[in-house]
Amino acid sequence: MNLKYICSDCHKEYNLSNEIYKCQCGGLFDLKKTQYIFSRDLILSNEWSMFRYLDVLPFSHNTNLWKMVSMGEGLTAIVPLYPHNNDILVKLDYMMPTSSFKDRGAAVLISKAKELGVTKVIQDSSGNAGNSIAAYASRAGIKCDIYVPENTSSKKIKQISSHGANVHIIKGSREDTAKAALNAIANGEGFYASHVYNPLFYQGTKTYAYEIWEQLNGDIPENIIVPVGNGTLLLGCYYGFRELLYSKLIKKLPKIIAVQTEGCAPIYNAFNTNNNTVSSVVNTGTIAEGIAIANPMRGSQIIKAIKETKGTIILAPEDKIIEAKNKLSKIGFYVEPTTAATYAAFLEYNKNNKIKGKVIIPLCGSGLKSDK
Ligand SMILES: *Cc1c(COP(=O)(O)O)cnc(C)c1O
Ligand SMILES: [Zn+2]
Repeated sequence: MNLKYICSDCHKEYNLSNEIYKCQCGGLFDLKKTQYIFSRDLILSNEWSMFRYLDVLPFSHNTNLWKMVSMGEGLTAIVPLYPHNNDILVKLDYMMPTSSFKDRGAAVLISKAKELGVTKVIQDSSGNAGNSIAAYASRAGIKCDIYVPENTSSKKIKQISSHGANVHIIKGSREDTAKAALNAIANGEGFYASHVYNPLFYQGTKTYAYEIWEQLNGDIPENIIVPVGNGTLLLGCYYGFRELLYSKLIKKLPKIIAVQTEGCAPIYNAFNTNNNTVSSVVNTGTIAEGIAIANPMRGSQIIKAIKETKGTIILAPEDKIIEAKNKLSKIGFYVEPTTAATYAAFLEYNKNNKIKGKVIIPLCGSGLKSDK
């Protein structure tokens, strides 16, 4: 398999390597399109993880380092949100080895890093992505430094260090944290295992779409609700459904309904003022720390994806998030505030049944990790 990075700005191509993380022109890398054609008989039915879709993942059949890295991530349950209502489904991505959907991306990225001979990774995160990278790096025998903003939940920080990673707690914003990690990269301290920059991460998150397709027997809901900060789940989901469409396994793309939160909504703002590029905002504070990304690097890709699916973007009312978290607990689901924000936005938007057709909502971060 001849994988290449391609610059999203100037389209220059690069071989995968453990040294570069962006184009000389400064542009972000995408993975050069490989037209994956999938079919039901390609599912590895004895592989009880997202690696059952190995044919659409960036690995050759004759490399199996991923087998030592994988912890059975994926294949998370899809159940009705409310008993007896099959029109509103939730997919329980908090049932993952490190309790968030980020394991999908980390499993692929770290397996690939191992193939490339990486011995140390560096990453910055507001929490869950750091947990995932730290866990998978440690499993793969790769050293790991994680940079987090100072307001990160203490449980997430504990989890990161328990995997043996060095945690750097950075005073200031999420953006200051990214700068600190980039400085370490510039100093040659390690491979940038970034869920924002590295397109391999999105090859993992796209299994979210494949699973919905397989688990629901091809009968995918019209509406896919997805929280969006940096867009790793949203873009992964979009890539997955586009491949399924291309493979003629689904008839049309489901609408992507993205969720941001009132306190930090740069993509929402751009979308609603008809801008295809996203300007950074000031995070005025939100309890939904996982989607509080003031300057999303892939903002224009996210907007393009939402538009192509005829979707939209909605807001979580800040003062309804904890209420939504409690409502979910009352029906059995214990999630973190960022995930409750997705439900709060859904409830607000769906007053008077605005959403037509079936819906699937990810419950993708565990309440056990949160201090709130
Ligand atoms: C990371 C994360 C998000 C947001 O994902 P992005 O890739 O930043 O769009 C939402 N919910 C949870 C629980 C997360 O960990
Ligand atoms: Zn470029």
